[in-house]
Amino acid sequence: MVSRVIPVDPFDLVIFGGTGDLARRKILPALFHRFHAGQMPAEARVIGAARGEMSTEDFRAFAAEALDEFAPGQDRVWVDEFLQRLDYVTVDARGEDGWGDLGEKLRPDVVRAFYFSVAPALFADIAERLSQHGLTDATSRIVVEKPFGKNLETARALNRTMASYFDESQIYRIDHYLGKETVQNLMAIRFGNMLFEPLWNSQFVDHIQITVAETVGVGGRGEYYDTSGAMRDMVQNHLMQLLCLIAMEPPAKFDPDAVRDEKLKVIRALDPVPPHHIVRGQYEELEDDEGRHPSYREAVGNPRSRTESYVALRTTISNWRWAGTPFYLRTGKRLKARSSVINVMFKPMPHSIFGTEAGEHQNTLSIRLQPNEGITLGVTIKEPGPGGMRLIDVPLDMTFAEALGPDGHHADAYERLIMDVIRGNQTLFMRGDEVEAAWAWTDPIIEGWESRNDVPKGYASGSAGPADAELLLRRNGREWRGINP
Ligand code: NAD
Repeated sequence: MVSRVIPVDPFDLVIFGGTGDLARRKILPALFHRFHAGQMPAEARVIGAARGEMSTEDFRAFAAEALDEFAPGQDRVWVDEFLQRLDYVTVDARGEDGWGDLGEKLRPDVVRAFYFSVAPALFADIAERLSQHGLTDATSRIVVEKPFGKNLETARALNRTMASYFDESQIYRIDHYLGKETVQNLMAIRFGNMLFEPLWNSQFVDHIQITVAETVGVGGRGEYYDTSGAMRDMVQNHLMQLLCLIAMEPPAKFDPDAVRDEKLKVIRALDPVPPHHIVRGQYEELEDDEGRHPSYREAVGNPRSRTESYVALRTTISNWRWAGTPFYLRTGKRLKARSSVINVMFKPMPHSIFGTEAGEHQNTLSIRLQPNEGITLGVTIKEPGPGGMRLIDVPLDMTFAEALGPDGHHADAYERLIMDVIRGNQTLFMRGDEVEAAWAWTDPIIEGWESRNDVPKGYASGSAGPADAELLLRRNGREWRGINP
């Protein structure tokens, strides 16, 4: 089935940081794909705005290179058409030059959106200048990237600053995990079917696992990453958002505030995590066929670093639905596989009529975000053949082929999210109070590590993480699914 593409309204999208890494790898390719799909109308324009001196032609050449690398194999005619929609203005976020030029390029009567794809330290400067120069009105939209603060205090300050220039309904805090097809399918599965909802609670669910595993190390982001770590960089935002969608109550309607109100209630009901329910790790150096890969400490250039590149934890939610059900979260770099998956592990049958020989079986609902986005339900059936009543677990695959476009192009999260900004739909964006609540839960964990001078455990690159993370589950007779030792 080919999905219908409804063009969005004409827009001017200004990308502050238009010459940066994120614009190159994600934002410009996403816009091109939406243009190619017929969703970005011909009147739409994208204005790169950054500190570097550059002509519009130079910016188009930069965008063409970005498309060659991150959206390869495109028809030249389409690329040239798309490039005609691009413009560029040199603007210093902290200076006064360029703002008048930017104002002249903006058109009245089209949707106006400003994407802050720059270091968070510049958010306030840009917001202030946009406002001073009269470039925004009550309908303008502001898109902000992660990280949104580095603790509760800084997030609150950033929210206050943004609120002094814009209404909350204008602010789109991006968490690209929410733009993934499967994450939205998770909501469709939960709230579009009668099948799961009656079982979706501590009476029937034994525990839930959320894994976001990467094979890459910190790469060129070492300096930034060492001030952040896995807890701030991944758990406080991405894993927390996944946990919210799994655990939240059904909202009364699929409306931005109704959904976000329910997510907020989950975060506020999260219990504090005691130190013995957390494992932190740092990857060690690795020698393989491709050569030598540096250890975490070497990669960040800090031989005494106490920042974690891996974290696994067990948390619980104090509400009627989930009291007593553990949620296990883990994420890390340089692990043996790239895999983002949520596993809902149902309880075993209370009694087996087939006797002990049939073994113990447990239904599992696996929601894979990457790779191979899809949803699988593990069900128990009889082993085929005349071998007696032996039971086996088989996957019931619910991967939706429609997620692929007519040309086989799999829409990236940024495509969906940017189009949602233009449509004015905030459902898949984090609200200010959600971000603050997430920091309020994260802060004591990080402060605890700092006050105890906690040193992360080393783990072998290419492994499933520190051995202690296995014990976190094994203590209760459970084991991680997805990537195992
Ligand atoms: P980058 O360093 O590659 O690019 C920064 C951009 O900001 C450049 O275009 C630069 O010209 C511009 N800039 C710097 N100082 C400026 C100033 N004073 N005035 C105007 N423009 C200025 O950074 P990036 O990797 O593209 O990241 C941008 C934002 O996106 C950051 O908040 C980052 O945390 C976030 N982010 C990036 C990624 C990624 O994969 N790159 C992923 C998630 C979030």
